Amino acid sequence: MSQETNPPRRFFIHTFGCQMNVNDSEKVAGLLLADGYERSERADEADVVFVNTCAVREKAAEKLYHAVGRLRRLKARKPGLLVGVGGCVAQLQGAAVLDRARGIDVLVGTHNVAQVPSLFRRAREAAGPLVDLDRRADSFLVPASAVAHSSPVRAYVTVMEGCNHVCSFCVVPRTRGPEVCRPADDVVAEVESLVARGYPEVMLLGQTVNAYEHGGADFAELLRRVDAVPGLQRLRFTTSHPGHVTARFADGLRDLPRVCPYLHLPVQSGSDRILGQMRRGYTRRQYLQTIALLRHCVPDLALSSDVIVGYPGESEEDFQSTVALVDEVGYEGLFVFAYSARPGTTALRVRDDVPEAEKRRRVAVLNAHQQRAQQRRNAAHVGRREEVLVDTVVGPGRVAGRTRHFRIVHLAGPASLRGRTVEVEITGAGPNSLTGKLPNGSLTEASPAPIL
Ligand code: SAM
Repeated sequence: MSQETNPPRRFFIHTFGCQMNVNDSEKVAGLLLADGYERSERADEADVVFVNTCAVREKAAEKLYHAVGRLRRLKARKPGLLVGVGGCVAQLQGAAVLDRARGIDVLVGTHNVAQVPSLFRRAREAAGPLVDLDRRADSFLVPASAVAHSSPVRAYVTVMEGCNHVCSFCVVPRTRGPEVCRPADDVVAEVESLVARGYPEVMLLGQTVNAYEHGGADFAELLRRVDAVPGLQRLRFTTSHPGHVTARFADGLRDLPRVCPYLHLPVQSGSDRILGQMRRGYTRRQYLQTIALLRHCVPDLALSSDVIVGYPGESEEDFQSTVALVDEVGYEGLFVFAYSARPGTTALRVRDDVPEAEKRRRVAVLNAHQQRAQQRRNAAHVGRREEVLVDTVVGPGRVAGRTRHFRIVHLAGPASLRGRTVEVEITGAGPNSLTGKLPNGSLTEASPAPIL
């Protein structure tokens, strides 16, 4: 009689929020794969589902409860299904999440991703939910080789966790704790292993990544060391804080050949009054001086930003200062958010007095303004040639990639182009992307195909 073997268990991960959450989910995925699980593309085909949450705005946090509600209904049909919840809402709300949402078997904080496989194992026998929110834990302990990167082209590498800033609106210091940086040697070793596995591009991650400091190495030094990794083609990083842009950092952007000429530098507001209340640590003038320093070093630097509108007390005049600043800088991309009151932040002490409809109007006005500007700027690229690293297969015969300035380019081409850097002639422009073609239909390769 033949011995029947159980099919491997399958996992599904639902991720909300920033690149750091994506990277945490990649760690969870890698650990589950190492534990014998297989990946499922659908929650209803999985044996365990992990929801990685974002707490930065109320709407994002609420998504957890909608997701768990759907999973509870799925559990009614699949009693063996285990549900895990992690990320910033778990860290922020703690065990209170379990009171509000039934059906959770495992709850882990932002520092405890390494525990997820063992918690799922124990949860099969446990009488109630298992909780690990220990802030002393260390997600850096997840070995680099265990991370299951979701893109075969751009690998995220977390170089620091947490944030030491005290922005009045921001919940991140509560969800991620104070800054903790990884040793530069560890970061370089991880990048070396990624390059050896065929990754052409690396993106270094931190909430305030350019505040990095470890063992005497600042962020400029870390960039210099990573840039020197043989075989790496492109180096990016996010998110930078304006208060940590130094001359050494700007020199690095100019001098390091793999560092791409693109910077996400959130300004949040163009009004000094609001910036002061937000405790951002810079004035409008200082922010513009920072941009001038960067552009002095890298004249064609592409910039993007985050803006919050409808901050408590924001007048029409304050809002117009933000619109004017956006025009003055000329961003390539802009993320506009309506202010959302968050637990434990100092902004809670002031009344959230801008009506929701007015916040929505300001978001729409600024987005429309920015879209028109992006359309104009992108149109100027038509007719030029751009070096595109193809990262996405959009459909049969259609791929997309990014220029060194992080502009999206769509083009006709085979799926085999993914991971390759090609020269593309830009033939069209929309507000959010460019279209192009391989010159004369041929493949002019700027780099060899990586081993993926
Ligand atoms: N640490 C980065 C910084 O401060 O520059 C960004 C982190 S945050 C996850 C991403 C963006 O969400 C912020 O830049 C900000 O624009 C927005 N954000 C943060 N808190 C918010 C709040 N309470 N309401 C609305 N938007 C918020």
